Amino acid sequence: MVAILPAAGIGSRMQADCPKQYLTIGQQTIIEYAIHALLSHAAVRQVIVALNPNDNIFSQLAVAQDPRVSVVIGGAERSDSVLAGLELARTLQADWVLVHDAARPCLSYGDLDKLIQSVLQVKQGGILAMPVRDTMKRAVVDNTAIAHTVERNGLWHALTPQMFPLELLFECMIRAQQDGAVVTDEASALEHCGFHPLLVSGRSDNIKVTRPEDLALATFYLTHQ
Ligand code: C5P
Repeated sequence: MVAILPAAGIGSRMQADCPKQYLTIGQQTIIEYAIHALLSHAAVRQVIVALNPNDNIFSQLAVAQDPRVSVVIGGAERSDSVLAGLELARTLQADWVLVHDAARPCLSYGDLDKLIQSVLQVKQGGILAMPVRDTMKRAVVDNTAIAHTVERNGLWHALTPQMFPLELLFECMIRAQQDGAVVTDEASALEHCGFHPLLVSGRSDNIKVTRPEDLALATFYLTHQ
């Protein structure tokens, strides 16, 4: 199995001097935590990192020298970056693929193993996800007021990694792209093609570092895992 790490975003919401995956927690950057978490599992033999064409940081990291780490150039949207990774993954003749955000440093071995063991049993792939805890509101069109409450029961936060048979994910992503479907995670491409990926309950500390305050939270989680 191979893993793809889309890391070509610029992370503008972080208001940092460098893309968020290169912020440091302790001795390592966020992306290094993400790569090491994936490589900690014996089932993962290669991690393909999709980089921004202007990236001049990744090649300076120690992890870039690891033979189990490859690099491709990402694209304008996250789905373009994942597709670039999938093209390389296909040449490696992998059967399954994991896709994980470069900005999620706190993935635990337990969650990764649970995802892999659960999804290997099904054909339609699956994702780590977490049941929604808060009451959910749908806003009126201009986002200024509440239109109505959305039933919370049965709503989940999509996390990563997401895991699929490689060829199935590739075909669904190509079709979703051709149809102009909105694909903000890999499961959405499968849903677009009529599949129902598995929901595998994951831990709440598997956060995506998006805003400045998330860095302190990720630091706390990484030092208390
Ligand atoms: O922006 P967001 O937090 O949703 O990005 C999720 C992941 O997708 C990040 O790791 C980011 O680097 C990656 N990404 C990408 N190519 C893009 C946009 C985002 O690889 N064009």
